[in-house]
Amino acid sequence: MSTIRIASCIAVLLLIAAPVFAQAPDAGLAVITADKLLADVAHLADPALDGRLAGSPGYVTAARWAADRFASLGLEPGGEDGYLQWFDIEYNAFTATPTLAVAGADGAFTDCAIGADFTARGFSGSGDLSSSVAFVGYGLSQPDRGYDDYAGLDVTGKIVLCFKPNPSWAPGDSTTWAPDSQTPRQKSLVAQAHGAIGLLWFETAAPGKPARAPIGSVLHGPGVMPERFPQLEISEAVAENLLGAGAGEAARLRGLIDQAKKPQSRALEATAKVSVYADYSAKHPTCNVVGVLRGSDPQLAAQALVIGGHLDHVGRQGPGLYFPGANDNASGASAVLRLAEAFTRAGTRPARTVVFVLFSSEESGLEGAKWHAAHPFLPLKDTPAMFNLDCVACGDSIQVGSGKTSPELWARARALDEAGDRFMVTRTWADGGADATPFHQAGVKTLYWVTTKSYPHLHAPADLPGTLNGPLYEKLVRLCFRTAWDVAMGGGS
Ligand SMILES: [Zn+2]
Repeated sequence: MSTIRIASCIAVLLLIAAPVFAQAPDAGLAVITADKLLADVAHLADPALDGRLAGSPGYVTAARWAADRFASLGLEPGGEDGYLQWFDIEYNAFTATPTLAVAGADGAFTDCAIGADFTARGFSGSGDLSSSVAFVGYGLSQPDRGYDDYAGLDVTGKIVLCFKPNPSWAPGDSTTWAPDSQTPRQKSLVAQAHGAIGLLWFETAAPGKPARAPIGSVLHGPGVMPERFPQLEISEAVAENLLGAGAGEAARLRGLIDQAKKPQSRALEATAKVSVYADYSAKHPTCNVVGVLRGSDPQLAAQALVIGGHLDHVGRQGPGLYFPGANDNASGASAVLRLAEAFTRAGTRPARTVVFVLFSSEESGLEGAKWHAAHPFLPLKDTPAMFNLDCVACGDSIQVGSGKTSPELWARARALDEAGDRFMVTRTWADGGADATPFHQAGVKTLYWVTTKSYPHLHAPADLPGTLNGPLYEKLVRLCFRTAWDVAMGGGS
């Protein structure tokens, strides 16, 4: 055998050993630019869309805008109402900016600033109250398991103050707390059942770390809604004013409780004035937005790659507080729109079908992703992969999750990065994560696209378009397109 033939045999063997990738068309890649991505983020993060609280007028306006984009790309509608896939959620919208004022033993009230000093929890009930405050530790009452923050303390007619985090230990001789007993909703319901009229909760700063400002959140956990029961998150500084024993008192009390696994509850010489006005509805319509590009291969077209990201965020709290959600997740939603354009501008249709979905209600418990996974465009058993894009534009490198449960798919993304920008870190994790979770649980392989250092402004008013890293964002979406194109052409399974 000549040396030339030996060399060509080795070349053939190498070709067999290395995975073969379908090359993403340049015409598709060319539409993915930082400028275009950031322009869509700016549109979605605009105050006119009210922070895109799922089911709110601002959210529905954003959903219709996205549906128009899918239509302009010529995608097939994938909802039962054109591109819109409607379902019902629990809904709570603030009709005024919540207020809080606190007074110590001297009775002199100080007004607190919405955003910096406090926020209302998304599913706070309404109320206009003024009352003395009692400290109730973790706000947990499970006497049957050997722990009760309310034991021996009368909180009737009072506002209770408690920690937002839950203990890292289990009570008494138990190995766990009661299921779902530590959610925001349960802390309110337990306080209400003990006669309290409102709840303030707060985080203690980790040692050596600055205290975190209160956030916006609509995650509440299962159960009935305490409609006439305000629930606010306050800063550690405001909490220490109420505790009345100087800086460090909150951490000291938490340390004592953790050490002895015994409550430190007490009445305080402090008063709080709270007002919250919200419209609550147990059932309120919201929608996912679904656009479909049919595959070109007669067999593979029955299989759909799902590319999704959530469109919703945590809304606004009256005129006084607004959560733009630029990174979370205007960035992911804009990426899905631009990926749809890249696929339709590629000049050739992929073999497999691609379903583009903007999910609603991620923020209140993955409701849109769960709904879509239960009502998919094509059966999930024929779904080779689901890509989720969530918080993809802030930070300094690309991370792709689910690599421990979808290693082959992850390795394809990694190899494509190695051959290109080399911006992807090797850190990954198992399972789906956020909106990928219902798909992972249904047996679909997933990839979770996110940036490293993505969360400095998570659920804060500061999550603004100006904080995003345009060049990184473009690189991530292009790598996602390269990987998605490869899967859509039959790769990965
Ligand atoms: Zn979020």
